[in-house]
Amino acid sequence: MKDRPILIAGGGIGGLAAAIGLAQKGFRSVVLEKSRRLGEIGAGIQLGPNAFHAFDYLGVGDAARKMAVYVDSLRLMDAMSAKEICRISLEKDFRNRFGNPYAVVHRGDLHGVFLKACEEHDLVELRTSHAVNGYEQGAATVTALLECADNVSGSALIGADGLWSSVRKQMIGDGAPRVSGHTTYRSVIPVEDMPEELRWNAATLWAGPKCHIVHYPLSDWKKFNLVVTYHNDAPEPVAGKPVSRDEVRRGFEHIAELPRSMIERGADWKLWVLCDRDPIENWVEGRIALLGDAAHPTLQYMAQGACMALEDAVALAHEMEAHGGVVETALPAYQNRRTLRTARVQIQSRLVGDHIYHPDDGHAALRNAMMSAKTVEQWYDAIEWLYGGTGLDNSVSA
Ligand SMILES: Cc1cc2nc3c(=O)[nH]c(=O)nc-3n(C[C@H](O)[C@H](O)[C@H](O)COP(=O)(O)OP(=O)(O)OC[C@H]3O[C@@H](n4cnc5c(N)ncnc54)[C@H](O)[C@@H]3O)c2cc1C
Repeated sequence: MKDRPILIAGGGIGGLAAAIGLAQKGFRSVVLEKSRRLGEIGAGIQLGPNAFHAFDYLGVGDAARKMAVYVDSLRLMDAMSAKEICRISLEKDFRNRFGNPYAVVHRGDLHGVFLKACEEHDLVELRTSHAVNGYEQGAATVTALLECADNVSGSALIGADGLWSSVRKQMIGDGAPRVSGHTTYRSVIPVEDMPEELRWNAATLWAGPKCHIVHYPLSDWKKFNLVVTYHNDAPEPVAGKPVSRDEVRRGFEHIAELPRSMIERGADWKLWVLCDRDPIENWVEGRIALLGDAAHPTLQYMAQGACMALEDAVALAHEMEAHGGVVETALPAYQNRRTLRTARVQIQSRLVGDHIYHPDDGHAALRNAMMSAKTVEQWYDAIEWLYGGTGLDNSVSA
């Protein structure tokens, strides 16, 4: 079985993490990426300790640690009063409790870590301009059907082809993703363009009625990542559309001057209308399995979509090794390790958006009262299931 490659549709963070995880266990893979070049467009990403557990398992821990910025705290601010609601320390006690740090990275840098590891590994082959349209499977093989007609066969096919996955379309056929109606605008600015009083070494969330702003430093403190979101009931999915600053301003006229001032500093704003899906219990069909956003797309409110894709890669590599490469049993075992944990992230991300990021009036007052009353220990207990978990434990208990 080890002679036939495992096919991976999609060379995003999830697909490349899966390829390198499999390679560490001696499995050959061919990554089929539809774009002309492998890469990630701008902007930052937050990584909980569970991402670092995965980096170590996948053999890229040192490289990943080198390009991360280690923030000191998670800060929750009230965007109406400009006052702090609560702050969770990410320093020594946090690291001791969860065994790894919390960090922020540039997406391109993170993708680059996996790309380099894949390029340098003999067991990974990367093919760009190879869009997977679907698949056919027989008793011993699966064939990825490619847009370029250069079909390729292997022992398994991993659909790591993102939110609009073609592999999922054929396997599950559950139509378009759910449009949340939340519009996110992203910008990365040089650190000197960030208002001086907001240059905090923190991942900061300003929560306001139907809107919020997130910012944190990036790339060795050379840049700041700005992500501002407006719940404007946007009806259609959009990804990466350039927009004017005027358009971004529109959703934030009602919030305090200090957080609003960041919008004036942003440049080259790009727009996403956020989508997710309801959790599903089965994402394996014979020799085919889904991974990352293709399997469990989530809103970004727990900053866990990529972290979950990394954990998937760990679980997949682990089960392929444990089952001696027998795909028919390894893939269901992989799925069993992942469905509950990823479902909790999908559902809880929606709840966090509704009850922490966007409340108004009495709902916001309740949030402030409840969140400011928690001790640091209580915070750590509440996130233990997530940051203390790994791709191998399917942990969902609080
Ligand atoms: C605004 C925002 C902020 C976020 N912040 C965070 C965060 O802080 N922390 C976090 O952990 N996550 C975050 N996420 C989520 C994270 O970005 C995703 O969960 C993660 O990138 C998913 O990785 P993936 O490899 O599964 O999918 P993708 O990154 O979508 O990669 C899919 C790949 O497949 C390719 N592809 C698509 N179709 C085909 C095809 N038919 N054939 C071949 N190739 C194909 C694509 O070109 C792409 O390269 C955020 C998301 C958003 C929108």
